[in-house]
Amino acid sequence: MHKIILATGNLNKVREISASLKGSSIEIMPQSMFNVPDADETGTTFVENAIIKARNCAAHTGEAAMADDSGIEVDALGGAPGVHSARYSGEHANDEKNTALLLRNMENVPDGRRTARYWCVMVYMRSASDPTPIICLASWEGVIIREKRGTNGFGYDPVFLIPELGKTAAEVSLEVKNSMSHRAKAIKMMTERLREIHA
Ligand code: IMP
Repeated sequence: MHKIILATGNLNKVREISASLKGSSIEIMPQSMFNVPDADETGTTFVENAIIKARNCAAHTGEAAMADDSGIEVDALGGAPGVHSARYSGEHANDEKNTALLLRNMENVPDGRRTARYWCVMVYMRSASDPTPIICLASWEGVIIREKRGTNGFGYDPVFLIPELGKTAAEVSLEVKNSMSHRAKAIKMMTERLREIHA
């Protein structure tokens, strides 16, 4: 078995990635099993932050590591919230406050200029000094609506409309979201590469 430590304590992510690697020779373990301290996400890009997290995980475990970073990029806001998506509304940020702030900042943006996309970056590093990490980027296109709709999902999902479905990401089931989201696509790209490497 090839062991990969995942730079997250989020068991949903561990489960989603493990499911995508079923039947392969790769075993995923969360970094919470190794007492890895959280890394400071000081990057300006999703790619930098994912590399910081994967390198930190590999350095503390001595094993190969994988990390993801994600967020939402809104065109009318020059790409914000971007890497600040989780903390958009400040120190005591939560999904509710972040979404409210986004809607406020978008108040004067006309329909037709409200395009946005979620991004997910997955990084795999064989060691902390790996000079050629595998980097997979995937996005999910949407439009920011003016009022929240739906109760599924998390984060900005209630205001993120998927144009081809006419529904927000909070109005679709987890199965549908997991078949088309930025994260699902990035995980698929990464796990296909890893299966090739460890075939
Ligand atoms: P992280 O990569 O888990 O730190 O997520 C970063 C932040 O981006 C989250 O806290 C959310 O605000 C936002 N985000 C990332 N993916 C999604 C999604 O699928 N739905 C809603 N918000 C998301």
